Parts: sequence; C-alpha cells; structure tokens
Amino acid sequence: MSLRTILVPLLLPAALVAVLLALFGQPGGALAASLVTLAGSAIALGTSRQVSEQQLRALARKTLGRADGNSTMGPPSDRLDEFTSLEGAIDSLHSQLSARNAELIQGARTLTAVLDGMAEGIWVTDAEGTVVRHNDALAQMLHRPAGGIIGQRPLALIRNEALNDAVMRACREGESTRLELTLEGLFPRTLSLRVTPLGGDLPGSAAVFHDVTELRRLEKVRKDFVANVSHELRTPITAIRGYAETLQGGALNDPHVAPKMVDIIHRQSERLSELVEDLLELSRLEAREVHLQQARVPLAIASARAAEAVRIKAEGKSQHIELHVPPDLRAQGDERAIEQVLLNLLDNAVKYTPAGGRVDVYGTLEEGRCVVRVQDTGVGIEQKHLYRIFERFYRVDKGRSRDMGGTGLGLSIVKHLVGAMAGEIKVESQPNVGSTFTIFLPAATPEAATG
Ligand code: ADP
Repeated sequence: MSLRTILVPLLLPAALVAVLLALFGQPGGALAASLVTLAGSAIALGTSRQVSEQQLRALARKTLGRADGNSTMGPPSDRLDEFTSLEGAIDSLHSQLSARNAELIQGARTLTAVLDGMAEGIWVTDAEGTVVRHNDALAQMLHRPAGGIIGQRPLALIRNEALNDAVMRACREGESTRLELTLEGLFPRTLSLRVTPLGGDLPGSAAVFHDVTELRRLEKVRKDFVANVSHELRTPITAIRGYAETLQGGALNDPHVAPKMVDIIHRQSERLSELVEDLLELSRLEAREVHLQQARVPLAIASARAAEAVRIKAEGKSQHIELHVPPDLRAQGDERAIEQVLLNLLDNAVKYTPAGGRVDVYGTLEEGRCVVRVQDTGVGIEQKHLYRIFERFYRVDKGRSRDMGGTGLGLSIVKHLVGAMAGEIKVESQPNVGSTFTIFLPAATPEAATG
C-alpha cells in the first residue's frame, strides 16, 4: 500500500465538491471546498502518520526480535510498500551480519583450537603487560589452573626480572627479546622464550615459551658421555704409549722388565678394544640399528652357554656356578641378545664375587613371563648406587671395576637389550652379602613353544 492510495481517495471527493459548487454558480462555496480539501488532507496525513507509526513500531519490534534470534512476524499484507522494502533491507543487512558473525565465531574457535593444540606455551598481554589471553600448554608449563593466569602481570606468574623487562620493552618500545630461564621448584623446567610486540596497530605483546628441559638434559648427557669416553680411552692409550716409549728408551733390552711391559701393553690394548666394542654396541642399540630376531629361546641352553664362557674365570677364583633353569622354559626374543644379557650378568657376578663364592642362576615362569635370576655372594651394592648402575660409565668403585677389566658399559647394554625385547631388569643387593639381578622376558607363546 502506497501513500498515493491513501491520499487520492481522501482528496478526490473534496475536489469534486469544489468543482460541482463552481458549476452550479456558487463560487462562494469554493472556500468551503478548500476547507473540506484541507480537512481531508489533514485527516489523510493524520491517518497516514498513525499507520506509519504503527508499522515503524512493528518493524522495530521485529528488528529487535531478529537481533534476539526470533525471526517470526505477522503477515506483510497490511504494510505500506515503503515499509515492506525497508524491512527487506533490514532483513538482508541482518542476514549479512549473521553470516559475518558466524565467520568470526568460526575463526575465533579455529584460533583457540590451534593455540591449544600447540606444544609451545603462548601468552598475549595488553599494553600494560597484563596477560589477556593464553593457551593450554602455558597453563601446564606454569603448573597453574587456566583461570589463574588471565589478569596477572608477568612477575606474578614467573619471578624473573629479565622476562618482566622484556614484556615491558615489547609493549612500550616495540622491541623483541629472546631469553632462556629456569623455573625452580618440584618440577624444575628450562624454558626458552621469545617476547615480541603484537605489531600493526595492536597494543600489547606476545610471548612464546618452548620447554627445552629435555633438550638441555640430553645435551648434558651427550657432553658427559663425550667427556667419559675421552677419559676412558685416554687411560689405556696413555699406558700403552708410556710403556712403548720406555721400551724404546732402552727397556727393550732388559730381559727382566721388557716381557712385563709388553704384557701390560697387550692387556691395555685388549681393554681398549673391549671399550670400543662396547661403545659401538651401545651406540648401535641407542640408534636402534640392532635388528633383533623373534625366536623361541630355550633359557636353559642360553644360561649354559653364558656360564661356559665365564667358567675359566670362575674356576680361577674357585667359584661355584650352578644353573637351575628348567629345560622347557622358553622366552620370546633374540637368541644372541639373551645370551649376551646373561653373559654380562654372569661375568659381573664372577667379577664382583670374591674367591670361593658362588653364583646361582634360577629360571621360572611367573605370571606368564620368563624370569631369570642371577644371584651371587659377592661384594654387593649399597642402596644409594642401585638406581644408577644402569647408567653409562657409572661404577660403584671405579678402581675395582677397571682392575677387573670392566668398561662401565655392561649394564647399560643389558638394559637396552632387555628393553628392546619388551622385558625389564631389576636388581636387589646387600653390601657384603651379594646381589641378585632379575630379568623378565615375554614367554614364548604356548603354540610356538610346542611347535
Ligand atoms: P663394569 O664394566 O664396571 O662392570 P657394568 O655396567 O657391568 O660395568 O656395571 C656397573 C657397576 O655396577 C659396576 O662397576 C659395579 O660397581 C656394579 N655391579 C654390577 N654388577 C655387580 C655385581 N654382581 N655385584 C656387585 N656390583 C656390581
């Protein structure tokens, strides 16, 4: 419905009255006709305004209803055309805004998911350096509940002046900083981080935290390892070079000294070769270059072979080795690896047991796993050393181990091999009473065992 359709019916009768009065020779009635026209116009205007107000209110109600998510409205038939098109424009604007809003919500959700999926911790601050946003990884790194970070200043979260200064510099001077810091406490952590201004026309800063605790630990292990290897290699090399030079200097012609020196050189070169062998084996194991076979390994045979290899050494110390391994006990694993594990354990048992002692090997099946215990009546190991003896180059008594020809790598090789076969190793010991090393290996499956 247009304004014309309201005004024309109202004005037309008034105009007709004026024309008729003029035709019938009553020009004085023209004034009355004008008044009638005016009154008609006024009524029409009033009516039109009333209609407009009603429809504007209805449109406002509908628009507000739309904003609240309610799209229902009465039929459009009694509406003026102008309002119908205005309503159409508002509807189209609303649809565009709704689509844009949905896009923004989706974008914000994606950003949150990406931030929370990151391994690095992130916080964003406002221009004053107060944290206004962060991801899950940061809450975990700082061991804080998510709600305990927003609204905090850097110093309240991490007591580190350098970090606080970096955040303030980023906020005020737009400067980026890299730094590394250590968080003390129950779980010490080393964090490497970069603080940057947000950039563009956004005030504030962002900081990205990388947890480098494990990386730094590995770097230290590598440095210690290189230092240990150099030290271990230097000992026999120094001895070999020293005795060789003494021989060259004239001792070669001394029939009493020369054979002893040559003997020492020979022993030290053997030690060097054992060390290199063990190092190579360990490095292959750590690089997972050793491909272990899966076979049914009879543990009685593997134990007998290992015992045979140390028999001469044991006899030299008047030690008694006894095996108690049932012939049908079979482990699932690599035959050569299992033999090497047992040989290292038996070799240690003989090495660290005084003359006249004994070594027993027991084999059983416990809770579906093969269990082999190598028990000796040797010097034993104090409790405080027990958890470290599987580390590379860790020895309880360095002098004794070297004198016995140990490399300090045997038990780390054992631990790697057992682990690679999905097994585990444990140790119990009492100083001056003896030690028991126990290995657990998967048992060969019954069908395989009978096959
Ligand atoms: P090593 O070549 O020195 O024997 P291992 O890695 O085999 O190196 O053993 C590490 C250390 O554990 C040894 O130096 C020794 O102090 C201790 N150890 C290992 N086996 C025994 C044992 N059966 N009795 C007492 N001490 C042992």
